[in-house]
Amino acid sequence: MHSNIFVVIMMALFASAQGFMVSSIARNGRQQMSMMARKKKEMPANPVVVVTGASRGIGKAVALALGEAGCKVVINYASSAESANEVADLIKNGPGGEKGGLGFPVKANVGNVEEVQAMFAKVNAEVGPVDILVNNAGITRDMLTMMMKPADFTDVINLNLNGVFFCSQAAFVGSMLNQKRGRIINIASIVGQIGNPGQANYAAAKGGVLGMTKAMAKEFGGRGVCVNAVCPGFIESDMTKDLNKETLLPFIPLKRFGTPEEVAGLVKFLALDPAAAYMTGHSFNVDGGMAIGST
Ligand code: NAP
Repeated sequence: MHSNIFVVIMMALFASAQGFMVSSIARNGRQQMSMMARKKKEMPANPVVVVTGASRGIGKAVALALGEAGCKVVINYASSAESANEVADLIKNGPGGEKGGLGFPVKANVGNVEEVQAMFAKVNAEVGPVDILVNNAGITRDMLTMMMKPADFTDVINLNLNGVFFCSQAAFVGSMLNQKRGRIINIASIVGQIGNPGQANYAAAKGGVLGMTKAMAKEFGGRGVCVNAVCPGFIESDMTKDLNKETLLPFIPLKRFGTPEEVAGLVKFLALDPAAAYMTGHSFNVDGGMAIGST
């Protein structure tokens, strides 16, 4: 009996000592951060941007919008080399080309930490330090929970959640930390806010991205790095091409799917606009009103 009480007291003391250590580490970190200069740093004329999954769909539209604005865009892809090269050509020969806009296709599986680190090392060496990161690469493996294969859960988490962590860490440590500026935009989803039957894996990943966005915004803010999320609803792309639209439109107040360009417009604002320099830790929906509920 006595020994049980002793064990309980020791555990309580250990837990409180741990809590004290964690909070004092956090306090010291905050004090160090607050001593750093927090002057706003302007983006260069031709910022280096990494867009993951930029060979198709939303990522392609983001790459083109940022290329048109004169960015040097790293067009990450997993397997579509030809499409990624086409995006690079469109940037170079498009309206952004004269402003210095360029595209650099780089193959890397964003769900593999070694490939992510190799991609960022290559970008830093051959293109320049990364100013902006758009975490866009994503997949779906939809199935009702009771029938979902474990691999379909973990594959989605690995790319859609772990991949965002791997890329953000590499961009922050590899360049933004020293440059004391940067912008990270995470393409999440309204499914991370409101859920969706058949998408427990996807909802968990996207909800995780929303939490990670806030944590990183708090960690990176002292270094002048803004971290925000964009939550699309249903957008026309390969990901949604097989969905039965008629059954979904009643749930969308604007009664249509969005376009990749509509998502890209918001990403471009968050990435480049001086007015977005004081926005961090938030998520912004491009969903035709879907997340407010059915009409
Ligand atoms: P998509 O058309 O299917 O394109 C997916 C992109 O991701 C492709 O460029 C693909 O490259 C790349 N990708 C796939 N696996 C990868 C990997 N392991 N490593 C690196 N890149 C990889 O998708 P989308 O509709 O444009 O979606 C883009 C993002 O928006 C995703 O995060 C998605 O979850 C999110 N989103 C989409 C919708 C929608 O309705 N479409 C709604 C909410 C959120 P390859 O061409 O080489 O395969």
